[in-house]
Amino acid sequence: MPRAARPAPALAVIGDTPLTALPGCGPRVAEKFAARGLHCLQDLWLQLPRQYEDRTRLTRIADLQPGVAAQVEGRVEAVERGFRYRPVLRVALDDGSRATLVLRFFHFRAAQVAQFQPGTRVRCYGTARPGQNGLEIVHPSYRVIDDDEADGLGDALDPVYPSIEGIGPMTLRRLIGLSLDRLPGDEALELLPPDLRAALRLPSLREALLAVHRPGRDQDVAALLAGTHPAQRRLALEELLAHHLSLRRQRIVQQAHAAPVLDRLELAARLRDALPFPLTGAQQRVFDQIADDLGRPTPMLRLVQGDVGSGKTVVAALAAMLAVASGRQAALMAPTELLAEQHMTNLRGWLEPLGVRLAWLAGKVTGRARRQALDAVASGEAQVVVGTHALMQEGVAFNNLALAIVDEQHRFGVHQRLALRDKGAQGPDAGGLPRDAVVPHQLVMTATPIPRTLAMSAYADLDVSAIDELPPGRTPVQTVVLNAGRRPELVERIRQACAEGRQAYWVCTLIDDSDEVVAQAAQTTFEELGAALPDVRLGLVHGRMKPADKQSTMAAFKGGEIDLLVATTVIEVGVDVPNASLMVIENAERLGLAQLHQLRGRVGRGTAASSCVLVYQSPLSATARARLETMRETGDGFVIAEKDLELRGPGELLGTRQTGLAGFRVADLARDADLLPQVHELAERLLADHPEIAERIVVRWVGGAARYAGA
Ligand code: ADP
Ligand code: MG
Repeated sequence: MPRAARPAPALAVIGDTPLTALPGCGPRVAEKFAARGLHCLQDLWLQLPRQYEDRTRLTRIADLQPGVAAQVEGRVEAVERGFRYRPVLRVALDDGSRATLVLRFFHFRAAQVAQFQPGTRVRCYGTARPGQNGLEIVHPSYRVIDDDEADGLGDALDPVYPSIEGIGPMTLRRLIGLSLDRLPGDEALELLPPDLRAALRLPSLREALLAVHRPGRDQDVAALLAGTHPAQRRLALEELLAHHLSLRRQRIVQQAHAAPVLDRLELAARLRDALPFPLTGAQQRVFDQIADDLGRPTPMLRLVQGDVGSGKTVVAALAAMLAVASGRQAALMAPTELLAEQHMTNLRGWLEPLGVRLAWLAGKVTGRARRQALDAVASGEAQVVVGTHALMQEGVAFNNLALAIVDEQHRFGVHQRLALRDKGAQGPDAGGLPRDAVVPHQLVMTATPIPRTLAMSAYADLDVSAIDELPPGRTPVQTVVLNAGRRPELVERIRQACAEGRQAYWVCTLIDDSDEVVAQAAQTTFEELGAALPDVRLGLVHGRMKPADKQSTMAAFKGGEIDLLVATTVIEVGVDVPNASLMVIENAERLGLAQLHQLRGRVGRGTAASSCVLVYQSPLSATARARLETMRETGDGFVIAEKDLELRGPGELLGTRQTGLAGFRVADLARDADLLPQVHELAERLLADHPEIAERIVVRWVGGAARYAGA
């Protein structure tokens, strides 16, 4: 697509002015901004407040409500400097409203203490909470007011910006203010055509930006705080439009490429006949859709959504057979080594009897084994290549990759998906593929169901099919929620279950990024359970173990030599041991719904009745309670996804690595979902009538990310 077809109006250039043009923004500060992707004035205009502080009015101490931020003014009544476990300064304020407010400081300087002479007028802002004697505010922002000072209340809400490392909040607010002083008039700023804007009855971009950055006293504060103010809706609409356009364009560009025609069905038919089970109706339907796509000379871009256990792997294997039957290669990439290994084991069992040659590539494959695998991939000796991210690494060259399959794609970003595709591209690659390049087909699979409205936006560049049926004979998993205090009963129950020949998972979770800490916790649990259950055969898997050890433990569990497998969330995605029928998840209150659903999906895969015990620590927050309740009530991934969207919003739902959706500045897909039909319609009209405007909207909001969109 051409960059702006007509010369941009001179004023628009103001938006591109580098930040160093602002007084007080030297190269060092500009660097801090750049680290956050903020380079020019326009980036600061779009850096919106995440909160507001209302200093336009004073609240009487007697009227303060716990948990609600407010501004208060009063005189110092008493000061107490103490030292219990650490130094503390308590300042009691009185404003004549027959209630006292305590300001509490844990870090303070001597000069601060001296400020608070009894009788001094102090104005402070913060959120009051119940304290030892009445309400208190910990570390309020405050200032001392001279007795002769006039009211001095602001007439606009104070914006609070997302913090930027290395730039103080005051400087940040000042610089954004300066950038706004240079905001040009609508004629230079507005991109939406006037007829469209009039129909939407939303403010202009300039009005909207000013209302959001500098809301006056008369603005609807509640709406602003809730994100439903017309100004925010206007910005959200443009932002959603930009993201949608960028994905749509990506699809258009993608479909201009060519792809190998894979239309030989005989090998897939042989695999299907050799399987120990018939395909479900849904599996057959989705495979037919894929086969139809693969038979065309344009690249397939298809997402297969299927709840945990719906049988996506076999559909992927069938698709791979179309590539192999045409003398070409297929690759299957999984996000974890454990899952990739399991795929390898399954595919070996299914494909080797058909004479299909496989290769295995993971990060841990090194030395001679790696060279051999690389040679097999490069020469075409390997027809199906299974692995992890290692598949995308430099030095991996395919002979003639025709189908790239990405499992659990929500664990990967768009970049990684494209990187695997580019491995198979034929023709020169100079930072972007030529239009007539031949690229592999792409099949991406996910077990994270996404509500329809979201899917339309998140995957505007993909066709979506759903495997919406589970293989027959599965019984729903019965889910119980249990207070951690009842752990001894639970351990006894596990003992009984194992004595009856059942197999169980005991999942240790911690919200900790460090594998090491989590592994340690799992180790401790493993030892405790070992001591409590002498007759039970225990195994342990965690992320810090050697791959070979992990693999042999999993094999022993699958083979029934281990009764109880203590594990970290490494088993979360994809692991398939049909005989396991009991799962305990510790600290379940700390996990999100999608993760709980994935974990629980490890049981209920065989014919035995299965159960899942969610163990929580009190007290439960309202959200955690709602999550556990949802898990107890339903096993339907789509219902859980809707609930998840409601409870935590789509940015998290899709994972922060989901480029193109996470990191919205204003839009919130849960809140603004009703804008989506309009967004889709607008996008079609712009692409048809004003492609140059579409381009500028994408550049404005998606910026750098648009660079790969044309890849
Ligand atoms: P997921 O969609 O979660 O990736 P898997 O592909 O791991 O699911 O399949 C789950 C289990 O169901 C596997 O043991 C697989 O062999 C089995 N399976 C797949 N399709 C069928 C079917 N049509 N009938 C019975 N079992 C099936
Ligand atoms: Mg799977």
